[in-house]
Amino acid sequence: MGLFEKFKSGFKKSADAFTSGLKEIVVKKEIDDKTLNQIEDYLISSDVGTVAASEIREIISQKKIDPGKEISSEINKILKDYIIDLMKPLESQVFFEKKEKINIVLISGVNGVGKTTTIGKISKILKSKDNKVMLAAADTFRAAAIEQLDNWANRIDVDITKSSQGSDPASIAYKAVEKAKAENFNQVIIDTAGRLQNKKNLMEEYKKIANVVKKIEPDAPNEVILVLDATSGQNVINQVEEFNKIIPVTGLIMTKLDGTAKGGILLAVSKKFKLPIIALGLGEQEDDLQIFESDKFAEAFTNIQ
Ligand code: GDP
Ligand code: MG
Repeated sequence: MGLFEKFKSGFKKSADAFTSGLKEIVVKKEIDDKTLNQIEDYLISSDVGTVAASEIREIISQKKIDPGKEISSEINKILKDYIIDLMKPLESQVFFEKKEKINIVLISGVNGVGKTTTIGKISKILKSKDNKVMLAAADTFRAAAIEQLDNWANRIDVDITKSSQGSDPASIAYKAVEKAKAENFNQVIIDTAGRLQNKKNLMEEYKKIANVVKKIEPDAPNEVILVLDATSGQNVINQVEEFNKIIPVTGLIMTKLDGTAKGGILLAVSKKFKLPIIALGLGEQEDDLQIFESDKFAEAFTNIQ
């Protein structure tokens, strides 16, 4: 299976629910107000967000639909164009390229969204592009979290800096960067604990990690990647807002797009924040990560089966 096919099949649940819903709405041969309302409601229920949903509704209502063509495929084309217009500028494939100068990446996000798993997957891609990768096990909250990252380091065959449960996360991040500099690594990926954005002390700890690595590398963290779980629905909007307040987020990764019919949340996030989208998680295995490309996303999202 090619990457694109894999992407489509991974994303099938989201796409199917989305497009079969649309299809049901537009079996009629004309687009009247009632149909437009239904389309807008359907888009909102797919987590596309009210702003994008009303914009799409407006575009559809303005558009002269060719009566010789099937309305559902015409609407899909409108949607696809809308998605590409919105998301093309958010592509950030440069994230994975080989960096000349050391690149320090802080991975953040609430508990269970898929941070540690995503670190394993992105490390594999980074390594395949000739990056020398060091992981930092700065989620010291649970022993299992350190072990989980350690397993990924072994599986992907990259280095890891770790310590015991309960040790200071900032000092692990510091040690990882120190070692990476001394040994010519060019990527340091820092795993963090699932910080609930309303837990002040955890947020302070997160800031401390960033401040401590600055002592070695003034520009660090070079990237702050927020991991979002597609199945969390509209909560992700709030997560982006809260995390962005602590340390400005430089890129997003959305996980679990394989398991939800609510993939539209990525559109809502794009519309609201215009943040670069690094990659999409489509499963639990090491190859289940798709570097974000807007046209592939649009194609998969609007693909009528
Ligand atoms: P963390 O707490 O943010 O570090 O999250 P983990 O990396 O431990 O992942 C939590 C759970 O989500 C694990 O069971 C992962 O296997 C699963 N997971 C992570 N990414 C994906 C994904 O893209 N798709 C699916 N279906 N599961 C995922
Ligand atoms: Mg974790």
